[in-house]
Amino acid sequence: MSFLSATLSRVKPSPTVAVTTLANELKAKGRDVIGLGAGEPDFDTPAHIREAGKRAIDEGKTRYTAPDGIAELKEAICAKFKRDNGLDYSPEQVSVGTGGKQILYNALMATLNPGDEVIIPAPYWVSYPDMTLLAGGEPVFVEATLENAFKITPDQLEAAITDRTKWFIFNSPSNPTGAGYTRDELKGLTDVLKRHPHVWIMTDDMYEHLAYDGFEFCTPAQVEPALYDRTLTCNGVSKAYCMTGWRIGYAAGDAKLIAAMRKIQSQSTSNPCTISQWAALEALNGPHDFIAEHNAVFKRRRDLVVEAMNAIDGITCPTPDGAFYVYPSIAGLIGKTSAGGTTIDSDEAFATALLEEKGVAVVFGAAFGLSPCFRISYATSDDALKEACGRIRDFCNSLS
Ligand code: GLU
Repeated sequence: MSFLSATLSRVKPSPTVAVTTLANELKAKGRDVIGLGAGEPDFDTPAHIREAGKRAIDEGKTRYTAPDGIAELKEAICAKFKRDNGLDYSPEQVSVGTGGKQILYNALMATLNPGDEVIIPAPYWVSYPDMTLLAGGEPVFVEATLENAFKITPDQLEAAITDRTKWFIFNSPSNPTGAGYTRDELKGLTDVLKRHPHVWIMTDDMYEHLAYDGFEFCTPAQVEPALYDRTLTCNGVSKAYCMTGWRIGYAAGDAKLIAAMRKIQSQSTSNPCTISQWAALEALNGPHDFIAEHNAVFKRRRDLVVEAMNAIDGITCPTPDGAFYVYPSIAGLIGKTSAGGTTIDSDEAFATALLEEKGVAVVFGAAFGLSPCFRISYATSDDALKEACGRIRDFCNSLS
């Protein structure tokens, strides 16, 4: 429709949001659907954080704040970066937004000119390329293969950099694969970036605290201090603190970039929800012991799903280091036909038939830029996961 902007024709709706919405609609209609699409913890927001939100309401902390966050929260974010990552930031280097999504969007909108390139390892979280396109930039994909544990190599990064490269987006542990870069692996990438001073680094550290088997999280500005000035370190409270719906993300970096992001926010949404900001302050400053408890549960579920997937003929499922996703390959099933008559010629066909025939909602790999795979979010109950894995096994075994 010509009424809509030409820019919008370059992007598609978020597939993760679409799958989650579809699964919920089918459930509301009475269909027996197990949703493994949504990437959000099934745990409730911890009580002390909920109380902080309620207190904010009762104390009348319900008015506008500075467009990119209250001073108290910015202080808490600076303390978090120092405590967890050894990074020194001051409040004027910090931006708080409505979820990690708004932070990344603001940063891309604030910096991209037509034709600017953004290097994105694939598989990627679905919104990086489309946000890049919305901001007028060009996504440049670098394939992180299953054979290389879904990680890119320094040589691949080097080969992707051009004069037009503006950003390199780095996400570890990764959504959708759960793959995490060790310090040495990340150092290999930061050594390349050091040689290209025009390239800025945007990190998505949303899964920092969700790591298993002793995996040690690290972030680029920490591994290579020489990159500090051109790194935007992004994080948020959604995943570790089970606060997806509260919508609080944040970033720290160059003060001029942060000011530019503030300008966009002041002319669009203004401040993130005041109540959520006070709750996020409690999340960052309060006790963290529940995270280890949640991680023990996530690890158990990860192992359950990885074992179940690898037991299926035609599926290969690497064990992730973190996040709450697994990303099995269905290369061994391509070309088969489902009992319902669907030819499994792509991972999208696989996911569609799996939902229609067995009522299991997963996100197809093409949405993340690496096929033929699919993403399972295991942030749901053990019982639901066992039932879902059984249905996936039955579905795959019924393919002919
Ligand atoms: N990050 C989550 C996911 O990948 C939330 C949904 C979204 O905003 O994409 O499922």
